[in-house]
Amino acid sequence: MDDLVALLKRELGDAAVLTGDDVSARATSYWDAAPMQAKAIVRPGTTDEVASVLKHCYERNQPVVTHGGLTGCVQGAQSDGGDIVISMERMNQIEDIDTVAHTLTVQAGAVLESVQNDVAAEGMFLPLDLGARGSCTIGGNVATNAGGINVIRYGMARALVLGLEAVLPDGTVLSSMNKMLKNNAGFDLKQLFIGTEGALGIVTRVVLRLQPQATTRNTALAALPNFAAIPALLNHLKSTVGASLSAFEAMWGNYFAGVTEDGWHKAPMGREHSHYILFECDGSDPARDNERFMEVVEQAFEKGIIEDAVIPKSEAERSALWAIRDDFEAIVSVKPVFLYDVSLPITSMEAYVADVEALLAKLLPTAKIYTLGHIGDGNLHFFVQAHTDDAEARELSDRAIYEPLANYEGSVSAEHGIGFEKKEWLSQSRSAAEIAVMQQLKNTFDPKHLLNSGVVVD
Ligand SMILES: Cc1cc2nc3c(=O)[nH]c(=O)nc-3n(C[C@H](O)[C@H](O)[C@H](O)COP(=O)(O)OP(=O)(O)OC[C@H]3O[C@@H](n4cnc5c(N)ncnc54)[C@H](O)[C@@H]3O)c2cc1C
Repeated sequence: MDDLVALLKRELGDAAVLTGDDVSARATSYWDAAPMQAKAIVRPGTTDEVASVLKHCYERNQPVVTHGGLTGCVQGAQSDGGDIVISMERMNQIEDIDTVAHTLTVQAGAVLESVQNDVAAEGMFLPLDLGARGSCTIGGNVATNAGGINVIRYGMARALVLGLEAVLPDGTVLSSMNKMLKNNAGFDLKQLFIGTEGALGIVTRVVLRLQPQATTRNTALAALPNFAAIPALLNHLKSTVGASLSAFEAMWGNYFAGVTEDGWHKAPMGREHSHYILFECDGSDPARDNERFMEVVEQAFEKGIIEDAVIPKSEAERSALWAIRDDFEAIVSVKPVFLYDVSLPITSMEAYVADVEALLAKLLPTAKIYTLGHIGDGNLHFFVQAHTDDAEARELSDRAIYEPLANYEGSVSAEHGIGFEKKEWLSQSRSAAEIAVMQQLKNTFDPKHLLNSGVVVD
């Protein structure tokens, strides 16, 4: 056994350090069922243990990769046989829910959905939600600055983080567990670890902002006649229900038809419409909110913005509507399939999507495209099924998505990050000066490039 692995087993205990079959029994990620590769998976239980493992690795020039829930979409947690993986799975405790100050203090390995549930049991609401909730971790959410379905109202993960604790690659613990909304005492160091994909340090604990739980929730799935109706509906909702709009998720007809194929989700309305929007309002006025929501939907009908709508009458019906948006197994089960995440102004989206479809048809005629997005945030996702084993399929598909984006000054990553997967496209969205500063930060925090080496920048 490797000397370092033996040392870590002695320090943390055998059960905390997995090797051999215990490593390969795990899947590489949510997206890749291939056996995981790593010299060992180390599972620290405290910040001090994370610090000690990193210190030993730093002294021995040992590369380290941090694992949260492995739901990330850009291969940022990809490890190989020479890496030590630090999995945050044992650091999964809620330390404090403060219902007066509206803060949550939680360890980084806690799974988002279980945190949401524990917070709800205290009558509070954690305004961070995404389809991977059952597996992704708070640390992964912070490291990727996750977006999700409530960004339109509450912002991305960054907007919710009040404080955090991180361990630097050499084992130094940097604790900034601030609980105040205002704290301008010097540099706001927590920002260095939010959205930097684990390249500068390992997040171990986090303080997040909470909100009071809403007392009303109204949801609708609406069918729209064309793309122009999307911004029309968004503006209609913003000018009527205003800040209570908490989700506004778009599905193109191709996506809706794809996930409601026979044997998958039951379509709650016709599958022939151009676009579908799933929107939701959270409020605090039971006497008024439900009635107002119905009025607003009726007005949208009268204005010709929507052609059909389904309003769930129970939590089970609501969940079934959300499953159409969140569960795309029908699409991703047809391999190879490539997922994209871009952002651009809503005013440019229709033209951009048309450009993408035209270029994809030219470069990869076998491909089938499915489009959806957190459209209120200017965020589009595409799934491209290649329907070919062509070794160049991925490259051609990438070109079809990213090359037209340059004409609209969009970003090659809205919320998934860069990881390894999008590195070659980073320069399309960031200037040489911006990338040089990212490299300087990496060199400062991790001069030996041992932690998540090669993720985002070299
Ligand atoms: C079905 C599905 C739906 C999704 N929907 C959304 C969505 O709506 N919005 C969105 O933004 N993303 C979405 N994602 C992507 C993914 O869930 C998020 O990126 C999530 O935040 C990753 O968390 P994780 O714990 O799985 O991280 P991992 O996948 O384990 O890691 C992601 C990156 O963060 C690093 N990392 C993980 N934990 C830490 C830590 N404690 N400290 C430092 N670095 C760390 C890893 O090294 C890696 O670089 C979705 C994924 C799936 C599978």
